[in-house]
Amino acid sequence: RSIVKLKGIRKQYNTGVLAIDHVSLDIQEGEFVSIVGPSGCGKSTLLRIIAGLGDYSAGSVEIASGDAKSKGSRDSGLSYVFQDATLMPWRTVLDNVTLPLALRKVPKAEREAAALEKLKMVGLEKYADAYPRQLSGGMKMRVSIARALASGPKLLLMDEPFGALDEMTRYRLNSELLHIWKDTGITVVFVTHNVQEAVFLSTKVVAMRAHPGRIREIVAIDHPYP
Ligand code: ADP
Ligand code: ADP
Repeated sequence: RSIVKLKGIRKQYNTGVLAIDHVSLDIQEGEFVSIVGPSGCGKSTLLRIIAGLGDYSAGSVEIASGDAKSKGSRDSGLSYVFQDATLMPWRTVLDNVTLPLALRKVPKAEREAAALEKLKMVGLEKYADAYPRQLSGGMKMRVSIARALASGPKLLLMDEPFGALDEMTRYRLNSELLHIWKDTGITVVFVTHNVQEAVFLSTKVVAMRAHPGRIREIVAIDHPYP
């Protein structure tokens, strides 16, 4: 079943920059898709369009992650993870993870149980009462991932999430993310300019080129996943 279907997407910013053109992409439920390409080729633009956060100048977008009528990332069955973890410094780890559920008026006991379960998934349940400043960069990213998972999305959109982390931490997070993907069956769309990372993680790599951003090639990767 298709969860993301883009046809002939063109996006021209009002500055005149033609960011992407003729982009068509079909993502099946449960896939791990990476989008790779040089800086400025339109990866973030594309991801924002999938998220319903940006409009487009031509083409069509169908997202089957949640309520078709709701746009944005609150009720639409999708979550977004950015490079800078943007945790709220005055809230505990637990309260950061429950925040998306609080915004959706999920009762306290229920949202804390859900948050703890996600914190367990990223190995940080012992840090529920800690504050973000007490955590390393990798741990903050794990909290952001837990927060993104808290609302139980079907689609997880990640924009260069590990780009600011040292290589060891990135490798650890790569394999943790793969475990989460396998355990939850979630669909992931992962933007990176690191081809090795894309090949390691993905079932499908979408390679883009710039000026304007277009898909150069889509490569299916066969992994010896258990
Ligand atoms: P990438 O994520 O691959 O680095 P982006 O999607 O950020 O690429 O950018 C694609 C092109 O669109 C670039 O030329 C960039 O300068 C331009 N662009 C991105 N965001 C905006 C914006 N808000 N306004 C105008 N131009 C933009
Ligand atoms: P485990 O579950 O034992 O951590 P995985 O099968 O998930 O192992 O991962 C295999 C190994 O690949 C891990 O040691 C991980 O650190 C490493 N790895 C992580 N990211 C990358 C990458 N981008 N390229 C190559 N190897 C990677």
